[in-house]
Amino acid sequence: MRKPLIAANWKMYKTPAEATAFIGAFLPLVANQQKTEIVLCPSMTSLAVSLEATKGTQVHIGAQTMDWHDNGAYTGETSPVMLTAIGVTHVLIGHSERRQYFNETDETVNLKLKAALAHQLTPIVCVGELQAERESGRTNEVLQRQLTVGLKDIDAATATPLVIAYEPVWAIGTGLTATPEIADEAHRFIRAQLAEILSPAIAASTRILYGGSVKPDNAASLCCLEDIDGALVGGASLDPNSFAQIIANAS
Ligand code: PEP
Repeated sequence: MRKPLIAANWKMYKTPAEATAFIGAFLPLVANQQKTEIVLCPSMTSLAVSLEATKGTQVHIGAQTMDWHDNGAYTGETSPVMLTAIGVTHVLIGHSERRQYFNETDETVNLKLKAALAHQLTPIVCVGELQAERESGRTNEVLQRQLTVGLKDIDAATATPLVIAYEPVWAIGTGLTATPEIADEAHRFIRAQLAEILSPAIAASTRILYGGSVKPDNAASLCCLEDIDGALVGGASLDPNSFAQIIANAS
């Protein structure tokens, strides 16, 4: 039985005061949502206040990225040791904006994934094809490469917290959403890949989220499909009512 997970990616939005105000408005709206794992991923400067504001609740706090080293001369970076020390439990890895603007590759995804698992952080590894890759019929090839390299040499015994987010790049922040059929097909392909790369048992228990212009009005049709175990939400997670409505509609 896979527990649904719905995560908010706030990207580079919200000051600490805005994050605190969001959480104050959001918590009462999800007080009865025990069936869904809820994760908020604020920017680094809002992690501490978000942890404080959600203390004692069922809402988890995740980082949007991290470095794979424990510490060292890596100016500007944040390590898994630093994240777990303040109580962060989840981390996004390989978001398409990180791949597009910050040179993240399948190889760095692999290093970060290993570091997250070693530090008991729940990794949400993002994969997905560009529009041109879909149009040229290469979606499965791209997903296979991202997963094969990204999950290389992961010990199946330690891989159980792994979460995958399928985020077709053409659907992120564009208002375009994959149809349920497109999402379902990609999710089934990803699960089959996980069975080959890790094991059939891990594939069956790994949560695969859909991300790409999820909104209150399309959450139900996407999240009710057998191989879709929740959502990674960007723009529509910035407003507490809209994000709470997505959680309610998807549950
Ligand atoms: C994202 O940032 O992961 C995302 C899916 O964004 P949006 O919901 O705005 O498309």
